Amino acid sequence: MGFDTNARINAERLRATMDVSSGIGAKGPGLSRLALGDADKAMRDIFVGWCRDAGLEVSIDRMGSIFARRAGREDDLPALMIGSHLDTQENGGRFDGIVGVLAGLEVLRTLNDLGHVTRRPLCLVDWTNEEGGRFPPPMLASGCFVGAYDVDWAHGIVSTDDGTTLGEELARIGYLGDGAIDLAGVDAYLELHIEQGPELDHEGLDVGIVTNAATVYGFRMEFLGETAHAGTRPMALRRNALVAAARLATAVDDLGHAHAATGGMATTARVAAQPNKPGILSHTCEWIGDVRHPDAAAAAAMRDAVLAAAKAAAEAARCDLVIRDTWTWGGDIFSRDLATGARRVASELGYRHRDITSRAGHDAYFLAQARPTGMIFIPCRDGITHTLDEFTTDEAIEAGANVLLHTAVRWADRSGT
Ligand SMILES: [Zn+2]
Repeated sequence: MGFDTNARINAERLRATMDVSSGIGAKGPGLSRLALGDADKAMRDIFVGWCRDAGLEVSIDRMGSIFARRAGREDDLPALMIGSHLDTQENGGRFDGIVGVLAGLEVLRTLNDLGHVTRRPLCLVDWTNEEGGRFPPPMLASGCFVGAYDVDWAHGIVSTDDGTTLGEELARIGYLGDGAIDLAGVDAYLELHIEQGPELDHEGLDVGIVTNAATVYGFRMEFLGETAHAGTRPMALRRNALVAAARLATAVDDLGHAHAATGGMATTARVAAQPNKPGILSHTCEWIGDVRHPDAAAAAAMRDAVLAAAKAAAEAARCDLVIRDTWTWGGDIFSRDLATGARRVASELGYRHRDITSRAGHDAYFLAQARPTGMIFIPCRDGITHTLDEFTTDEAIEAGANVLLHTAVRWADRSGT
């Protein structure tokens, strides 16, 4: 049963679906829809309703990820999984991973309209906590899905905002599932996402075919010092944890500038001191940040430099250093076959495209550890993202959804096992 190359998604319906999403957790022109908060719950409830209306079989796993399965002609074969994430950062955009999930839904709705049943099943996914905005590290649920993280450990992660745990919040919003879909049921994974960089936009391209990913090393650490009076504690005796974190912050920024010419980046994302009050020294300070480089060896060197800088910062401030957590992803991880398929579709559909390196983290990185994985990027204006002003056009979303449609259907319909 062939699939009509002239088939296209319903752009009007996808726009309307995106518009509903843009109203849930709205903040200015963007969104604040942090994982497992009330807005995330509201979005999930609506999304599950849409999936059920489309005749999809919905299940929730122990990490709260939502799976919506569309049966295949040979339904015992593993499914092609498509999707992304519906959560955002504190000041996030309307598009980010949301485009990937809702375009995925539009693909399945389009197949319903056309009466096309793919050979393999298709499974649409919304991964919990991709952003890690409340519960670091990011891409937590996809990491658990492939076994890179332990689910019980993940349930115990404490929110950076309010002291609740991820497991408590999953239960509170009613998304602590029982894990109906597992890795064995997955054939491959395909994710549509905005680029989160300026290349496609500035080059006037419609679509990017992701062929590799910058290597990332992330850290959550804590400096432990001692509270004392700001007016009486001698300088030589001070153990101000905030100072240790500040020293690390400037060292990490210097590191990023030193590697900038070759594409390296280094970020202090969070410094949170306790008690953080005027007139006293802080006894504890959390530091969260990461380093990234397109070259894996250079990224590893930057990782080592961060760890050395953290040690030096702790010593200089006479504090203790505790590494709470580290994470890494990226590299040459994507399926050449899926990239070839997406590239061919983009050409046939007449979209301007080129190959591209992914710089941000994505759930696809974890899926790539276990299954053939591909990513399709669409441009976002000036590459700005994780901000309320993040923007991409309806035309870009439509182009990406059409490439997703045909790439997914060809992959799911392919012969062989
Ligand atoms: Zn994202």
